[in-house]
Amino acid sequence: MSLTARELIHKLAEDTGLTYPTVAKRVNRMMKKGSGLIESVQEIAVEYKLRPDYYKINPVKIVAETEKILREDYTQTLMISAVLGQMVEARGKERFPSPAFFAFTEMLSRISDAPRDVKSETSIEIEEHTTRIIELMTTLVSVLCEWSEQGVIGVADDCPDTLRDIARAIFRKTKLLQGGLWTCISCGNIIEARDTRALMCYECDVKLSGSRSIEDRYESLGGSDRKGYGRSTE
Ligand SMILES: [Zn+2]
Repeated sequence: MSLTARELIHKLAEDTGLTYPTVAKRVNRMMKKGSGLIESVQEIAVEYKLRPDYYKINPVKIVAETEKILREDYTQTLMISAVLGQMVEARGKERFPSPAFFAFTEMLSRISDAPRDVKSETSIEIEEHTTRIIELMTTLVSVLCEWSEQGVIGVADDCPDTLRDIARAIFRKTKLLQGGLWTCISCGNIIEARDTRALMCYECDVKLSGSRSIEDRYESLGGSDRKGYGRSTE
């Protein structure tokens, strides 16, 4: 079974005989009109007399693979957090969509009990895992949440019960951001988006301002007080 949007579109392209870009463009257009990812892919499958139920993505498996990668190597998880943190602040093509970033922070809070290891992956492995996490997270938000032209507008009807909390958190934080508010990635407090400092509130930033290295800086995301990470005060 496919785990990411790319894999699913690739499978549909192979089965229909269309090229990957053709299928990807059609799916994009349908999704912009408010269709879900799976819904769009299945609609095209039906058009080509293929069985729609062959084209599915299981979000529970996405979460499982993400957790596996994030539990693998503590340093790697910090590096991935740093890259995604920079990407969510970036502009243009490099930008990591904020709902996908919120999904990532939810994943981090699930692994707060992970042991800190000394083993380190090579930089190539870290790069590959970062790319994989980006794909998994963008796919996860597209299947867990309901989308429209305005972006995330709720929790998808077919979101599994076990993942509803994640979907709700993504939706809530996305809505706050649309209203100009940001959830501090360290303590979870809600602040004005324009006042954020490296995705954190002023207090958390000051606490960490002496830290120079990426690891130190992102320690608070996956570090000793990891319990606070990615969770807002409810
Ligand atoms: Zn904070």
